[in-house]
Amino acid sequence: MKIKHIDSLEVLDSRGRPTVCTTVYLEDGSRGTAMVPSGASAGSLEAYELRDGDNSRYFGLGALNAVTQVKNLSKHLAGIESEDQNKIDTLLIDIDGTENKRKVGANAILSISLACTRASANSLNISLYEYLNILFNNLTSKEIKFSMPRPMLNILNGGAHANNNVDIQEFMVIPSDKFSFKDGLCKATEVYMHLKNNLEAKKLSTTVGDEGGFAPNFKSNQIVIEEIIKSIEESGMKYGEDIFLGLDCASSELYKDKKYHLGSEDKNFSSAEMTDYLLNLVNRYQIISVEDPLDESDWSGWKEFSAKANNLQIVGDDIFVTNKKLLEKGITEKVANSILVKPNQIGTLTETLETIDLAKSNDYGTIISHRSGETEDTFISDLAVAVDARQIKTGAPARSDRTAKYNRLLIIENELYP
Ligand code: PGA
Ligand code: ZN
Repeated sequence: MKIKHIDSLEVLDSRGRPTVCTTVYLEDGSRGTAMVPSGASAGSLEAYELRDGDNSRYFGLGALNAVTQVKNLSKHLAGIESEDQNKIDTLLIDIDGTENKRKVGANAILSISLACTRASANSLNISLYEYLNILFNNLTSKEIKFSMPRPMLNILNGGAHANNNVDIQEFMVIPSDKFSFKDGLCKATEVYMHLKNNLEAKKLSTTVGDEGGFAPNFKSNQIVIEEIIKSIEESGMKYGEDIFLGLDCASSELYKDKKYHLGSEDKNFSSAEMTDYLLNLVNRYQIISVEDPLDESDWSGWKEFSAKANNLQIVGDDIFVTNKKLLEKGITEKVANSILVKPNQIGTLTETLETIDLAKSNDYGTIISHRSGETEDTFISDLAVAVDARQIKTGAPARSDRTAKYNRLLIIENELYP
């Protein structure tokens, strides 16, 4: 159906920072709205997030310039078939004309791209995940069927997502894939509740970080892990059988002057020492997934780490930034074996789907992910189901910006497997 016009406004994300909310109106009266998330520990090669820089509003973080960009693009897109996602995304990329979407802003561009997708699904009167699956299958060689992703729940927050002393950004519980999505979510949420009781009993803070996980101070990363394992066992589940553990080290945030600074442990590690330190944790606690173990520029360190870590899911976030070219380099250099997929790191749906396709055709795992600054938009839940992603990472089972994604998945699972 042809696009009639596009409108946009500034709304707030989960940290109270402005973001873009765009609606695409089609000629048959249907419409689609999308809101764009925002990172805190963002990779330096991510597509550009356009902010106003006007310190008289929202500490300079306003999104009015991005809103204006969207409104200006309305006339360029009017009359185009909304289902021609590739044409729309290519046009947006061409109008911007820069390598990282610096001129129009990746937030402005992505809001149009995703709102178009939603408008098309609404116009066809099908679910967003069904429509996304059709789009994805148009660019893959192998037919992809729907599947429910395994959730990775970040129940303890550190790093740039909390004001505690914990260095590792995310401690995630991952239910076994023997469980349905619903049962896995239930078990992981029970662990979250047990963890809260345990922290309270120790008189530790139970206020939460940006992604809804608890954020108390701890003496070391080992103690955090042991506390979580204790909570798993107290929930009546077997650690390493029913529930597993994953980390996002977000190591680019720890890297300065070629050293990894772990404040809580009072250590300054070289790349090799950081690798040893993390692999020691992995082996000791049978951790199954590690994201961003090393800095985004430390490619030789990543190669070392990837070669040494057998059977571990090694996830590239800041190093790949959902960018096909960087993933290609990773595949060639045998760096990581999985990719974190965040649509706003690259800026259009088409590029996101192409990166997922490249990962899948090279047996790299795919994990669809939220950002630390989120909205109520649940696009990523539908995306994870549509492309048969291995996992979804969308925070703790708390705070509506996070539970909205899990709840959407519960609704989809109920639709697919009634
Ligand atoms: P960010 O963190 O959204 O703040 O970048 C999420 C992550 O590192 O995975
Ligand atoms: Zn990350």
